[in-house]
Amino acid sequence: MGMIRENIDRINAEKAKFAATVGKTEDEVLLVAVTKTRTPEEINEAIDAGITDIGENKVQEVVDKFDSVKPVRWHLIGHLQTNKVKYIIDKVCMIHSVDSMKLAKEIDKRAEQHGLTMDILIQVNAAQEESKFGITTDDTKQLILDILEQCPNVRIRGLMHIAPAADDPNDVREYFTQVKELYEECGKIEHPHLDFKYLSMGMSHDFGVAIEEGSNLIRVGTSIFGERDYSKKN
Ligand SMILES: *Cc1c(COP(=O)(O)O)cnc(C)c1O
Repeated sequence: MGMIRENIDRINAEKAKFAATVGKTEDEVLLVAVTKTRTPEEINEAIDAGITDIGENKVQEVVDKFDSVKPVRWHLIGHLQTNKVKYIIDKVCMIHSVDSMKLAKEIDKRAEQHGLTMDILIQVNAAQEESKFGITTDDTKQLILDILEQCPNVRIRGLMHIAPAADDPNDVREYFTQVKELYEECGKIEHPHLDFKYLSMGMSHDFGVAIEEGSNLIRVGTSIFGERDYSKKN
């Protein structure tokens, strides 16, 4: 059995264990394999091992690999520049990193051109870290209301959060809790283009805590594929 398959089986087992602690079945927490810096061969191995959803953080990597990867759902999880939306609008199933009206409007415009409705998540920066993208918890609801009013070709499916790095993920548990509360609150907004289904939180080192605090979509790279080597050209 290959290493990638072994890792996926292990993560699925852990995912199921943490999901059970909050009364969810393993199917109620989606594992998105984060494939940045990985080759199409590695990605296809993951798909053969049962992965249905993959996440990339760079537009260029989506474009470069799209035709070499087996049919799968692509998620754009990283910061997205408005001038690059056009390259991925017809390739991804969901954009996790919407944190401004400007970006939402560009997605709306390109979605309309393609005759589609794009699913998006609002990226929340709960810890207000300078180094991270995302909107503050205070401003999230207003951004959602503005998008609903001005962007008829997007559908808001939930929130995304990247917790601060911490040796012990328990130390940042409060941020997961905050975003979960915000998710509950914003999910109550009644609008035909708001249909909350995804709370995207948790990566290799903190997905257990994230699931315990209500995440139902985890984005895992390193624990599936090993450490990334950014110096390696792929
Ligand atoms: C790289 C990345 C991940 C995965 O991180 P790992 O620690 O490798 O699991 C998750 N989310 C985003 C937005 C990323 O850029």
